[in-house]
Amino acid sequence: MVISDAGKEKSPVDSPGLLVDSTTVPLSADQIDWLKSTIRDIPDFPRTGIVFKDLTTLLRDGVAFGFVVSVMAKRCARMNPDYIAGIEARGFILGPAIADRLGVGFVPIRKPGKLPHTTEKVDYQLEYGTDSLEVHVDAVEPGRKVVVVDDLLATGGTARAAYELITRLGAEVVSLGFMVELAFLSGRSKQPDGVDVFSLVVYD
Ligand code: AMP
Repeated sequence: MVISDAGKEKSPVDSPGLLVDSTTVPLSADQIDWLKSTIRDIPDFPRTGIVFKDLTTLLRDGVAFGFVVSVMAKRCARMNPDYIAGIEARGFILGPAIADRLGVGFVPIRKPGKLPHTTEKVDYQLEYGTDSLEVHVDAVEPGRKVVVVDDLLATGGTARAAYELITRLGAEVVSLGFMVELAFLSGRSKQPDGVDVFSLVVYD
């Protein structure tokens, strides 16, 4: 496959033009179409009316997964983070891979009751009901720079909660980064003014 081969031969980490102030990572139309072709739509999951973006089909494609990690790592590197934080559960797939590429540590942001040490906790609104996220109080030192990553930005409540958690530790969220953005749900507008938000593949 031509596009896959291109992705393999020329590492996106070496490609020019990844701008710090861009809200999307500037991939070519072919690269975006190729990534979209590896993502599976599951209608009416987990409930009627939701089209679930199944990213397991992208992750199992070694070339696509490697490409995504490389491009996201490159984009994160421009922000000089001290840590990559990932949101449970799918942020635990991308986050450690990106952190490893950058040679920085990984910080898990988890569902309530999972972390063993003292935690900071943020409750947030879901479409129906509320949910919570936690982080260890000593996971990040005050003043450190953190990029928060997750697989997908939908309504934005999860990312905003992660932002609040890291900020409460006295650290700075320098970027919120996603593999996929569902732009029609306006999750970007839920994030604080001025925070860098980027995504690779956008569905309008
Ligand atoms: P939100 O807080 O609405 O931005 O939701 C973000 C989280 O929910 C992410 O961690 C996603 O994994 C998951 N999510 C929400 N909507 C979808 C969707 N349509 N397809 C796949 N994952 C989704």
